Amino acid sequence: MAQHRDYYEVLGVSKTATAAEIKAAYRKLAMKYHPDRNPDNKEAEEKFKEAAQAYEILSDEKKRAQYDQYGPEAANYMGGGHGHGPAGMNMDDIFDAFGDIFGDIFGQTRTKSRKKTSGPEPRRGHDLSKEIQISLKDSYLGTSYEMSYYHFVPCTTCAGKGMEPGTSAKKCTECDGNGQIQFRQGFFMYAQPCPKCSGTGYIIPSPCKTCNGQSRTQVYDKFSINIPAGIYDGAELRISGKGDAGVYGGPAGDLFLKVLVLADKKFKRVDDDLVCSVMLTYPQLVLGSQIDIENIDGTKEAIKIPKACPVGERILIPGKGFTKLRGVGKGNLVVITQCHIPKKLSSKAKELLNEYSQEIGTSPDSEQGTIAGFFKKFLG
Ligand SMILES: [Zn+2]
Ligand SMILES: [Zn+2]
Repeated sequence: MAQHRDYYEVLGVSKTATAAEIKAAYRKLAMKYHPDRNPDNKEAEEKFKEAAQAYEILSDEKKRAQYDQYGPEAANYMGGGHGHGPAGMNMDDIFDAFGDIFGDIFGQTRTKSRKKTSGPEPRRGHDLSKEIQISLKDSYLGTSYEMSYYHFVPCTTCAGKGMEPGTSAKKCTECDGNGQIQFRQGFFMYAQPCPKCSGTGYIIPSPCKTCNGQSRTQVYDKFSINIPAGIYDGAELRISGKGDAGVYGGPAGDLFLKVLVLADKKFKRVDDDLVCSVMLTYPQLVLGSQIDIENIDGTKEAIKIPKACPVGERILIPGKGFTKLRGVGKGNLVVITQCHIPKKLSSKAKELLNEYSQEIGTSPDSEQGTIAGFFKKFLG
């Protein structure tokens, strides 16, 4: 890409030039370097293009403001325009965009007749969608995901033009660039797509060998994506420009990444809360206690079980849940109490439990827990 020259300097106007002054300056240069006046003069063509590029930016109020503030890149990539940067405008773009400026001198014929023969139309590339799976822990902490996938990128040999470097598209001689062949049958005129150029009106004499004239190639691409902490199951991330490259220099599509969060054995997410349960003994619940639990990221949390704590109680630890993606701060860590019922007891524990049972007025039966015991109690 050519070194950028100041657009005001290119047109020979001051930074405070009015729209009329800019237009007049461009018109003068465009006349001087017009290809019809300078046939086969490469230098004149470059000057002609350079002036058009400068005029494209400075004649547009918004682009001019962007350019003044941020320089050429910002102005070129702002929506709408040709968006190829200074090297990307071809002669046909220029005639299409500013043909009216010299129309009255050279006539409209050039703009009109060239329109159909301008060569392949740039088209935007496809958006791509992919799904990735991450653990609940990664969604809690945030992670860097190594993305690898096939997608189209602009062919580097021909810079996305689809033609051997230095060659260009030519008007189809068969249909004179119209893309259609007309023929008469009896009283009627018929038109059919030109078979030589398949209706496009142009021929590419030397398609790029690297991409077979497709202007782009498929590559296996790898890059890492930052997955933000707090990302929820089913969230879609849009990675701008990482879809398929456009055809013939059109803009690239985007990559849409759907994030699936896998279930965890111990923890689950409810809104922005991280929820888990904790097993406690009956005395811990009744008498209250202080215990440590391990959070999903491996850190220890000291939690206090209050006296006379019921089963199913939700103990909240604020700020230890998920980072809120929509909003500020974090959710809670929610610990739900459960009671551990032992399958085996030592004889001492059993004895004490029996004693306790009698103390509070319940009478355990030797056959307790069996159907026989149940009937014996009520029928016996
Ligand atoms: Zn190529
Ligand atoms: Zn044709």
